[in-house]
Amino acid sequence: MAKKVAVIGAGVSGLISLKCCVDEGLEPTCFERTEDIGGLWRFKENVEEGRASIYQSVITNTSKEMSCFSDFPMPEHFPNFLHNSKLLEYFRIVARKFDLLKYIQFQTTVLSVTKRQDFSSSGQWEIVTKSNGKEQSAVFDAVMVCSGHHILPHIPLQSFPGIERFKGQYFHSRQYKHPEGFEGKRILVIGMGNSASDIAVELSKKAAQVFISLRQGSWVMSRISDDGYPWDVVFHTRFSSMLRNVLPRMVLKWMMERQMNRWFNHENYGLEPQNKYLMKEPVTNDDLPSRVLYGAIKVKSRVKELTETSAIFEDGTVEEDIDVIIFATGYTFSFPFLEDSFVKVENNMVSLYKYMFPPHLEKPTLACMGLIQPLGSIFPTVELQARWVTRVFKGLCTLPSESTMRADIIKRNEKRVDLFGESQSQIVQTNYIDYLDELAFEIGAKPDILSFLLKDPKLAMQLYFGPCSSYQYRLVGPGQWEGARNAIFTQKQRILKPLKTRSLKASSNFPISFLLKILGLLAVVVGFFFQLQWF
Ligand code: FAD
Ligand code: NAP
Repeated sequence: MAKKVAVIGAGVSGLISLKCCVDEGLEPTCFERTEDIGGLWRFKENVEEGRASIYQSVITNTSKEMSCFSDFPMPEHFPNFLHNSKLLEYFRIVARKFDLLKYIQFQTTVLSVTKRQDFSSSGQWEIVTKSNGKEQSAVFDAVMVCSGHHILPHIPLQSFPGIERFKGQYFHSRQYKHPEGFEGKRILVIGMGNSASDIAVELSKKAAQVFISLRQGSWVMSRISDDGYPWDVVFHTRFSSMLRNVLPRMVLKWMMERQMNRWFNHENYGLEPQNKYLMKEPVTNDDLPSRVLYGAIKVKSRVKELTETSAIFEDGTVEEDIDVIIFATGYTFSFPFLEDSFVKVENNMVSLYKYMFPPHLEKPTLACMGLIQPLGSIFPTVELQARWVTRVFKGLCTLPSESTMRADIIKRNEKRVDLFGESQSQIVQTNYIDYLDELAFEIGAKPDILSFLLKDPKLAMQLYFGPCSSYQYRLVGPGQWEGARNAIFTQKQRILKPLKTRSLKASSNFPISFLLKILGLLAVVVGFFFQLQWF
């Protein structure tokens, strides 16, 4: 009999977990507290208790080719970076295509997940849900927790002496929806993550003045990279990932600093990160530097104290007549339906093997999905997590001993602190390709570049020097997809398609085009030797 799996939440993690359960012949049931799919990506005008809340203008910071599921590329005409409504459209297409909606019980909240008495032999869980005021209980063989980690606001008021005196309005970025109502105001945004930057930029078009207060600073990069390609198709190649892993830290730091300052000098703009050695998640924002250049946004240091109407900063400067303070200070998370003894959140940290499995369970039948912040897109990441977890549930993959898992958790955490720092915003930060490969290795879906070099050298070159998109994990092993090779070779076409909105006549100037071809050939040869870029 197929194993029954409970999936908690129907955001992107829940949807892809459902699909993987079905692919593996498991019997899933998804409980979603709201009336629809999409989680964070379903914008609503009002803030809902227990669900992530985004502002109306959110656009993905990872591109469509790097964010789609591995056997289902996004439609060719979709833009490269997607407005939240467009990404939701993709999730709706996925749900329809793979017939996932029939497994979801909407408006059903999971209240508790407890071990059955015979857990040590059965590994089963009892789940209590509430729907239309009625509580129900059911037994499941396994549980995938997909309830999200951008729901609870982290709003560190204790770090802002005087906030109780402040007479203006203040709130967390989760409550920000759009710039209407902020016309002519003097606004202070706290934080330097993607939320803070987006909100500061948007408000700076309406407000009298926006200030952004930084604690540690951050690298700011554009969504647009070399030759106008999306940043992540250029950045996330196996070749550059290998370089980042083998180069000495000093060299890496120098290269990163140089690369990040190519667009604008972060020091001149007051944005430079305090610790330039860290690979902390950069901010992706195309407009922030220009808004600073216009003076519409003023970059300030950390807030030392607030008065009734003003903010005093660490460097001694004061900004008067502040009307609004927005705390874009990130999130914390919790699992109110789980006992602490299963998954304990302490100082915003959890001890999970490979960010998924509690190491101490007698049976590996519970996993937390998507509780991660990769330097790339979360969507293919959580897909690989789900492919592995479902195979663990089926007994096709096994976990190591508890002590090995605990040792791995400690080592991984030390490495994380070393690479990304100790800031709360970096607590579930991971490298991208390394983590994807690690998961793919577990299920036997990691492509072996050397063997491809022998049997399909053209593909091997793409795999190594091209963007490490999710299709790479459908070439071999379980869940192999025959369209994967073609999807890899047509990535460029799908990236360029939405840009081809004006037809340009091809030039008939023979000598120039001939010359360009020769130069192009030369560039290919040079490129091959230096092997630095994808295109
Ligand atoms: P969520 O989308 O939060 O979904 C969780 C679901 O679980 C919700 O539907 C909720 O109602 C349900 N739920 C919760 N508790 C219960 C319960 N007790 N019972 C039943 N149902 C429950 N990542 C990227 O890769 N690229 C991006 O461009 C990107 N942009 C982002 C922009 C913003 C503003 C934020 C905050 C994050 C962004 N992220 C991005 C990261 C983001 O976390 C992921 O994109 C993703 O949406 C997380 O999906 P999820 O399904 O894990 O969680
Ligand atoms: P975040 O990345 O956690 O950033 C929080 C910011 O608040 C950090 O700059 C942090 O500073 C600062 N902060 C925290 N505590 C503070 C304190 N006590 N005093 C001063 N500053 C403090 O949160 P986020 O920006 O909301 O982003 C959450 C996730 O959503 C991220 O993964 C992000 O990429 C994603 N997101 C994506 C988009 C998009 O464009 N698609 C938009 C928004 C968010 P330190 O750096 O010094 O710790």
